Amino acid sequence: MEKKKYVYHFSEGNISMKNLLGGKGANLADMTSLGIPVPKGFTVTTEACNKYYEDGKVITPEVISEIYVKMTELENLTGKKFGSLENPLLVSVRSGARASMPGMMDTILNLGLNDKTVEVMAKLTNNPRFAYDSYRRFIQMFADVVMDVEKRNFENMMDKIKEEKGVKFDTELDANDLKKLVIQFKEFYKEEKGVEFPSDPKIQLIEAISAVFRSWDNPRANVYRRLNDIPGDWGTAVSVQEMVFGNKGETSGTGVAFSRNPSTGEKGIFAEYLMNAQGEDVVAGIRTPKDISQLAKDMPKVYEQFMTIVNTLEKHNKDMQDMEFTIEDKKLFFLQTRSGKRTAQAALKIAVELVEEGMLTKKEALMKVDPKQLDTLLHPNFDIVALKEATIIAKGLPASPGAACGKVYFTAEEAKIRHEAGESVILVRLETSPEDIEGMVAAEGILTVRGGMTSHAAVVARGMGTCCVAGCSELKVNEESKSFQIGQTVYHEGDFISMDGSTGNVYAGVIKTVEPEINGYFEIFMGWADEVRSLKVRANADTPKDTAQAVKYGAEGVGLCRTEHMFFDSDRIMLIREMIVAKDEASRRVALDKLLPIQRGDFVGIYEELKEKPATIRFLDPPLHEFLPHADEDIKNLAKDMGITFKELKATVESLHEVNPMMGHRGCRLAVSYPEIAEMQTRAVIEAAIDVKTRKGYNIVPEIMIPLVGDVKELKFVKDIVVRVADQIIAQSGIDLKYMVGTMIEIPRAALTADLIAKEAEFFSFGTNDLTQMTFGFSRDDAANFLKHYYEKKVYEFDPFQKLDQVGVGKLIKMAADLGRETRPNIKLGICGEHGGDPSSVEFCHNVGLNYVSCSPFRVPVARLAAAQAEINNPRKK
Ligand code: PEP
Ligand code: MG
Repeated sequence: MEKKKYVYHFSEGNISMKNLLGGKGANLADMTSLGIPVPKGFTVTTEACNKYYEDGKVITPEVISEIYVKMTELENLTGKKFGSLENPLLVSVRSGARASMPGMMDTILNLGLNDKTVEVMAKLTNNPRFAYDSYRRFIQMFADVVMDVEKRNFENMMDKIKEEKGVKFDTELDANDLKKLVIQFKEFYKEEKGVEFPSDPKIQLIEAISAVFRSWDNPRANVYRRLNDIPGDWGTAVSVQEMVFGNKGETSGTGVAFSRNPSTGEKGIFAEYLMNAQGEDVVAGIRTPKDISQLAKDMPKVYEQFMTIVNTLEKHNKDMQDMEFTIEDKKLFFLQTRSGKRTAQAALKIAVELVEEGMLTKKEALMKVDPKQLDTLLHPNFDIVALKEATIIAKGLPASPGAACGKVYFTAEEAKIRHEAGESVILVRLETSPEDIEGMVAAEGILTVRGGMTSHAAVVARGMGTCCVAGCSELKVNEESKSFQIGQTVYHEGDFISMDGSTGNVYAGVIKTVEPEINGYFEIFMGWADEVRSLKVRANADTPKDTAQAVKYGAEGVGLCRTEHMFFDSDRIMLIREMIVAKDEASRRVALDKLLPIQRGDFVGIYEELKEKPATIRFLDPPLHEFLPHADEDIKNLAKDMGITFKELKATVESLHEVNPMMGHRGCRLAVSYPEIAEMQTRAVIEAAIDVKTRKGYNIVPEIMIPLVGDVKELKFVKDIVVRVADQIIAQSGIDLKYMVGTMIEIPRAALTADLIAKEAEFFSFGTNDLTQMTFGFSRDDAANFLKHYYEKKVYEFDPFQKLDQVGVGKLIKMAADLGRETRPNIKLGICGEHGGDPSSVEFCHNVGLNYVSCSPFRVPVARLAAAQAEINNPRKK
């Protein structure tokens, strides 16, 4: 077997080697081959990183010797030598994974300095200040990254010296001050670590590379990966590059550049730089950088060269670039380039304009935008500058995107009252229940202690487009004293917090938000996505308002109307409660008769919004106890309102108690017990369709969906009721109305027997929330509590309730789709679980040949783009 190569010189790589060299390594190789001035260097591969972990977090001698060989080559190329007392070579050591993970991993600069080489550098450059500044930076970074000594300690020492000297900026410290600092830093290092700071550059190098490998696994990198679908086994590469110095004096500097504006997408180079500085100074914002236009005045030649390179890199990479550059003694170097992170608004503008400029085809442009990012387009976001100052106090699951600030309140009633009084409200609950709906509607944001991504709070919030952070278990809520505690800090009712539903971060105080802005680029870009895709996109919508919203975002129908959600408003919940406490069928029918016009009215509204687009209406699904209160006090109040005794209502609540309600009396099982519920719902669906067809002339074909079917006999039982009632109403009306009856596939047995079920079902909709829950055998509401341990311990990398488990649940879907088509070749297949709005799951649905995905209205654009990308990757259209 040929020996594996773990280290590549920049001139040995190319842009197609991103998997092996990481984005940074591949781009450095690419820039080198383009003749752009890049400091020389080499890249240690992602395979070496994976091997490091396989070998028990050590770099083996074989890899070390390969690194040393490349180091010697680098010495020959630069004419400098590692540790030399004549011409020492200094290097930077930087991380670079296949996908860019800005700021998540570590970097070390100025490696190779020690007490001797620093003196040589001082003499060679005739600039002792520069040499000692570089040395103190190196000690600081090495200590932080390699040895976990907090940066803050060093910054404090530096602040102290500045204070003693009465100066404000780092640049005002002279060589002697910096020399003193170096001594202090090293002493501190020894105190902390019990060993001397390593002086051998070769040891420094291997330690630094190991540390960058380790940083692949740091907590923030793990969280970033989970949020961005980056697998843990990709590993990071490490690039080792000859240092060039921006801190050599007033003819040196360093900066960052974007080939277009990353916030707005505006065409034109957007760059800032600092003179006499190293990379981290620009990012850290200690001094205010200068705009690049200043460089045109100060160093016109360098400016000209800079502009040419930026334009070359954008054209070459066919995308907006984010670059780092350094000027050393008026000589320009580019240290890296990558596709720049950008806001969703900027992403669309740039994609459209690159097509207009002839740089990209429409399909290429569609592949450049991350579908998930479109989510942020429709919600308010935090002001980027304000966010930098904010303090994160807790972290939960990013359950529904957007940014919210407000005063905390702990009950839905209070939230509603305060909202009506004009306050911005964050509703904080242990978990939400259907009863909280009005408080949820009133709230700017919903924060729950328990529950996962498909918990009630998460699903409802996403549907409403309200920001939600769920499963924030760090919060110790004390409902009695209306407060919650995080660590030692207590937050009381009325205190301000802010939260970000896209990251799960919760912040203290108020952070400025900016409203989303949808412009013409969105329409143009999404139009291209629609031309390309073959998978249809519907929305999960329960009200005419949500439906209208969904249609506005491009939904081609409603894929799931959860009819129970229509019953949660305060004037309606009483009627469903009346039905639940009814003692017999006759009194149940009385209550149902009162619900009928309300439900019919909602369906009329939905049909009118959809015009002739299809709507799948799902019959009542949740266990009935969800509509009733559980605390004695609440039961007492409700009994009074309902005109029954506490005892009576308490008995009903107790009789509905189930140990395992999600596997209990719900879904089609309710209709088996109480056929009159299915009768009423059929009547509402069909009468509404007839009404709208008569008045508006729309040709409506209602799709009636029976939930939680596990056996074809259950489906047949409920379907018979539907058909009997529907046919009778249609016959009486004299209107020609077609309708369909189908089922959700959300119980493994249904998937396993899909060929039998398809005999009765005219369509399947995969309910992957329940199907995931039932396949894994863990509760969708509680799993978040222990799944976090799974992520920490790397048992799982992703939440299967967010990203479809293609291996297991996906296998069931594929099997059921195939079996369904065997029985009924034209069976309509869709998905309506939360996965319908997740890009990788949408791609899976495309690949197994589903007809549509259905997701919350705000994720419709995400699904439209994901479906287009899936088509481009794996064309279905001939
Ligand atoms: C599902 O189970 O995937 C589904 C869509 O239904 P619900 O979330 O209402 O149980
Ligand atoms: Mg379900």
